[in-house]
Amino acid sequence: GERAPVDLHACVQEAVQLLSLQRDKAQVTFDNAVPEDLMAPGDNQRLIQVFINLLSNARDVSADGGHIRIDGCVEGGAVKISVTDDGPGIPPEHRDRILEPFFTTKEPGEGTGLGLAMVYSIVEEHGGQLELVSPANPETGRGAKFVVHLPMQERAQ
Ligand code: ADP
Ligand code: MG
Repeated sequence: GERAPVDLHACVQEAVQLLSLQRDKAQVTFDNAVPEDLMAPGDNQRLIQVFINLLSNARDVSADGGHIRIDGCVEGGAVKISVTDDGPGIPPEHRDRILEPFFTTKEPGEGTGLGLAMVYSIVEEHGGQLELVSPANPETGRGAKFVVHLPMQERAQ
């Protein structure tokens, strides 16, 4: 795909807007706290797809009124974007399996088990990494956090 500077705040916002059109899902708040100047080299549409998948998974484990937070920062010359929910988290026995195509804990017809496999391959093709932190909140033992690590956009001289 393309390798153009991608505005990550805008990518997340596109995903939020798309998911907000689905009225039959839990009514959650997506809090897009990604800084407006955070950029990574990549394919805009593919990166939007990453966030659609991570945000919809987060919403699927949320109750009405739940909060899903998307943060972004630069660390050690790389970009990190995280998606954090306050759902039940991912049990240890599932952690090695969630990237497998067709692994799902959802009811038939509710999940294909292909979302995270797609996220993983898109992140890989961008030269990045996908990290899972679960529980996201060590105090409550709840929540999942998916961290997308991407190379940082080199500044045009
Ligand atoms: P699907 O959403 O179709 O089930 P995915 O590949 O997107 O497929 O996710 C695979 C599985 O990983 C889910 O069925 C669920 O068990 C687990 N999972 C993914 N995201 C979360 C999350 N935020 N919290 C808890 N479990 C999750
Ligand atoms: Mg999914």
